[in-house]
Amino acid sequence: MAMLPDAKLFIDGTQRDAEGGKTFDIISPWTGEVVGKAADASATDVEAAIVAARRAFDKTDWATNVDLRVALVTKLYDLFDANRERLSDLARNEAGAAVGAVGRAHVGMAMEGWKDYLDVFPQLKWEKDYGTRTGYGFETVRKAVYEPVGVVAAITPWNVPLYVNVGKVVAALLAGCTLILKPAPNTPGMGAIFGELAAEAGFPAGVINVVFGSDPALAGEMLVHDPRVDLISFTGSTGVGKRIMEQGAATLKRVFLELGGKSAKIILDDAPNFAMEVAQSLLVFHAGQGCAVQSRLLVPRSRYEEAKAVLAKAYAGFGENWGDYENPAHIMGPVVSKRQMERVLSYIELGQQEGATLLAGGKARPDKGNGYFIEPTCFADVSNDMRIAQEEIFGPVLVVIPFEDDDDAVRIANESQYGLSGGVASADFDRAMGVARRIRSGSISINGGMCIAGDLPFGGYKASGIGREWGLEGIEEFLETKLLAWRQQ
Ligand code: NAD
Repeated sequence: MAMLPDAKLFIDGTQRDAEGGKTFDIISPWTGEVVGKAADASATDVEAAIVAARRAFDKTDWATNVDLRVALVTKLYDLFDANRERLSDLARNEAGAAVGAVGRAHVGMAMEGWKDYLDVFPQLKWEKDYGTRTGYGFETVRKAVYEPVGVVAAITPWNVPLYVNVGKVVAALLAGCTLILKPAPNTPGMGAIFGELAAEAGFPAGVINVVFGSDPALAGEMLVHDPRVDLISFTGSTGVGKRIMEQGAATLKRVFLELGGKSAKIILDDAPNFAMEVAQSLLVFHAGQGCAVQSRLLVPRSRYEEAKAVLAKAYAGFGENWGDYENPAHIMGPVVSKRQMERVLSYIELGQQEGATLLAGGKARPDKGNGYFIEPTCFADVSNDMRIAQEEIFGPVLVVIPFEDDDDAVRIANESQYGLSGGVASADFDRAMGVARRIRSGSISINGGMCIAGDLPFGGYKASGIGREWGLEGIEEFLETKLLAWRQQ
């Protein structure tokens, strides 16, 4: 495994080391070994990034020059496109992406989403006419104009870092904001590359800044507290999201949150090809480390034993087709870190204590390497009130819950603090649609339809978040409304 290039900060148009030259190690999830070094930003570095982003917003024409923005964001896309190999290396060696997963959520979907943003952007309306109204003896003409919100802090997680970074950075730039990108400590390189290529594309100094450090909270908390930052766009855990909302209150920060999930896939009793539908529900892609994964499988009690048998066979069939760094057919690698491995294993232990039946997997797999490998795992005989059914495990652990009828399936799906995504399968379209409409979540797939794409708004209900990312709505999140009204002469 080759070493990654050093991950440098990008502040005020310059790629640089941290103040005092401090660095931290990037650890490969595959081997547990050091695969790179990243600059360890200090408070002074974060302060410099805030100053640069503020100045670029207030003192340059970035906020008003739409043509310049489209030209540079397109140029940056082309540079990323030309660097897909490096993006793939970063996804594999920092986030632990299996090579077969790179073309999907890690790099392929991220780049497609970037293009989608550029494609929908011309539909954005910069003005809205409210017509005239007579009052107080005269006529007033009214119009709203939409303006970029200002300086954005984009705080991102490690699981699909390019996808989330693109979701925030590209939308904020197109809207006319300047920004500070703060990637997670596990995936600094996937942030640093935004600085490197922005410099190459010729972005004005201060428009994009990238800071990261070994302390997961330091830079983020500074950005959340600082009155010069106008909006926090955060993707990560619900716990940190709540803290950001609380701490952002002091400066009335606009907050946009994409948080955790525990989405339910409901297979109704009449689902066409029931066995295939069940067999396709294995939670293995990127070792289950996706916020929108369908980690609760809901099947009719009348067909529960059948579903269990199908799953046992499907997991056995999946077998050892995971965890090989080189195998292009593999879509599952290790989990991201030792800490994450311990967390997932503790949930597997908990599931057994709670009385669920381990249908497949359940163990760490050191034979796959010195990294953080956990077998594809499935729990049956799970009731929805168990912690393994309520809490986000963020690992390759599927729980299978029986339901009595459609109402019961909807009840179970909704008895969750989360509401991010989900799915319904039925031969009867109206029945499936009826169930989908009653689930309180931000997106639902019906009979396998793709409900996540770069031209569609994505986000959560309840504890899964506030606001929408991607699509036109994702760009609009970065705009303020200004109402102008003038007296008719
Ligand atoms: P996390 O919440 O620990 O960290 C996310 C980011 O916040 C990181 O950059 C981290 O350094 C930073 N951070 C940590 N503490 C902070 C603080 N006090 N103030 C400001 N920033 C702080 O999440 P994670 O472990 O990196 O990622 C996994 C979580 O992200 C999962 O819960 C997953 O569901 C969620 N996630 C959600 C989505 C979505 O779109 N809804 C997408 C991907 C991941």
